[in-house]
Amino acid sequence: MIDGPVWHPFTQHATEPAPPVVRRTEGAYIHTDRGRLIDAVSSWWVITHGHRHPPIMDAIRDAATRLDQVIFAGLTHDPAEQLAAALVRLAPEGLTRVFYSDSGSTAVEVALKMALGYWRAADGTDAHHRIVVMDRSYHGDTIGTMSVGARGVFNAAYGPLMFDVDRIPVPRADGAATLDAFRALARGGEIAALVVEPLILGSGGMLMYDAAVLAGLRRICDEHGVLMIADEVMTGWGRTGRLWACDHAGIAPDILCTSKGLTGGAVPLAATLACEKVYQAHYSTDRARTFFHSSSYTANPIACAAGLANVRIWEAGGMQPVLDRVAAMQAERLAALAARPGWENPRQQGTIVAIDLSVGQAGYLAEDGPVMRAHFMDRGVLLRPLGNTVYVMPPYCVSEADMDEIWAAIASYR
Ligand SMILES: *Cc1c(COP(=O)(O)O)cnc(C)c1O
Repeated sequence: MIDGPVWHPFTQHATEPAPPVVRRTEGAYIHTDRGRLIDAVSSWWVITHGHRHPPIMDAIRDAATRLDQVIFAGLTHDPAEQLAAALVRLAPEGLTRVFYSDSGSTAVEVALKMALGYWRAADGTDAHHRIVVMDRSYHGDTIGTMSVGARGVFNAAYGPLMFDVDRIPVPRADGAATLDAFRALARGGEIAALVVEPLILGSGGMLMYDAAVLAGLRRICDEHGVLMIADEVMTGWGRTGRLWACDHAGIAPDILCTSKGLTGGAVPLAATLACEKVYQAHYSTDRARTFFHSSSYTANPIACAAGLANVRIWEAGGMQPVLDRVAAMQAERLAALAARPGWENPRQQGTIVAIDLSVGQAGYLAEDGPVMRAHFMDRGVLLRPLGNTVYVMPPYCVSEADMDEIWAAIASYR
């Protein structure tokens, strides 16, 4: 049971024990009042290089000597301008415009609004207003992003408020069923945009699919003039073994959402990158075509400075061997666990690996989830299984010894 005024996210206060109190973070570690934890989930997928990565913390300290929040309509500042320019350089070809917000959910909401705004300008009507999504996808917890995500126990209560979308199956094997379903919908002519988590459906259970399927979806978008929105909120900044998941498929979406690792995970920031035609649809002497969106903390200068420190690390080169090292350490340990009875469906995409505990009844509310989490915590490892799926997504500074500890904890469960 958890007491006190704080209402924690995704936490059942009636059944969960009081959480440890975090005193300090550093690298791959979270130091609490009860001891050290290895952060094997990168604090819900945000910490990329490591906790309190020195160049990022220096940039935050430095920016804070000069700037705090300033209104971003009618004013601009260097951290936002420089970060936008760098994002355009680093992003897949053709993404030329950068709109700032403050979370993954808002980045996706912004993308949906951009897509509808594009079609309103192109058609002069609401002819293109439907959104296609994949089963088991996750794009955030606002009403709009829940609408384009999987329906289930998490959002059953809010169903009456959610809008209707078209769904295509999670790709299996060559993805033919997914591509066929999407082609049939795209032919219908009402589709404004496809929203996808490229290569990995994260919250849906770390379900992975081939880059060729992603490329196939891009081709169908092109054939039928459907906008492609890539939600790289989780996959961006190296998680899949390349800077962007889209890079594996050699494709560029029309709109790309990034958040989590944008500041290396230190402070909240998000960006929605748009291609020129989406931007131009809103560029007009007609003020009605203005992109009417803002959040109070849009382009927070301290967060932008942190983001700029992060992009400088990527632009300096040298990240590929870092990602390859994590991927290799993961592959070796995943193979060892997969050889043991009781585990199935081992899978990997770059620095992310997942494996399922063999159980009769799966699903997020499966009994094993919380029991496993407590078991790992007792062994000093922070992992949050998705139902019976255990995944490991460490910050890139993770050491061989840390990895041994993480995987020993997992193996000790069964
Ligand atoms: C986490 C996540 C989001 C939502 O980001 P928040 O910052 O939590 O709002 C959206 N899309 C994907 C793919 C995510 O993993």
